[in-house]
Amino acid sequence: MRVWQMNNYPQLQPLQLREEAQPGYEAESWKPTWNCFCCHDTGLVQDLLVKKIIKNYVSGRHKPVECNATNCNIQLGRYLYKTNTLDRRFSAEICDRLDAEERQSWQQWRQQKHQKRLASIDLNVTKNLRFRSRTNEEQFDVERRHQDIRNDY
Ligand SMILES: [Zn+2]
Repeated sequence: MRVWQMNNYPQLQPLQLREEAQPGYEAESWKPTWNCFCCHDTGLVQDLLVKKIIKNYVSGRHKPVECNATNCNIQLGRYLYKTNTLDRRFSAEICDRLDAEERQSWQQWRQQKHQKRLASIDLNVTKNLRFRSRTNEEQFDVERRHQDIRNDY
C-alpha cells in the first residue's frame, strides 16, 4: 500500500477569472468599427450631433447634414449634390469638434459599461457564494482566509 505524505497534494495552477475581470483588462479592447465619429462612416452627421448646431433639427423632415470632418473618408454620391439633398453648411472645423466630442463621450460610455460589467461579475460571485447563510465551518474558513490575507501584508 502506498503511503501518502500529509501535504503531498497534486499541485494545480490557479484558474483565471473571466477576461474582463482581470486587472490588466482595459476598456480599450472595445473599439467602434467606424473611423469617423462625426458621421459613424455614413457620410451624414449623426442626428444627436446635428442637434448641437441646429436646435430644432428633425431627422426625416430636414436635410441630412454632410460630414466634412478632416479624417472622414466617406464620399457621398454625386446624386445627392446634384439634387441638392444635403445640408452642406457644416465646416471641417465644426465636424472636427463634433468628432472630438463624440470620441470623448464614447470613451466615457465605454468606461462606464466596463465598470458595470465588473460590478455585475462581483455581484454574481457574491450571490453564488451566499445563497444560504454560512455554517460555522464556512465562517471559520472565511475568517481564516481573511487572516491569511492580512498575514500576507
Ligand atoms: Zn464623417
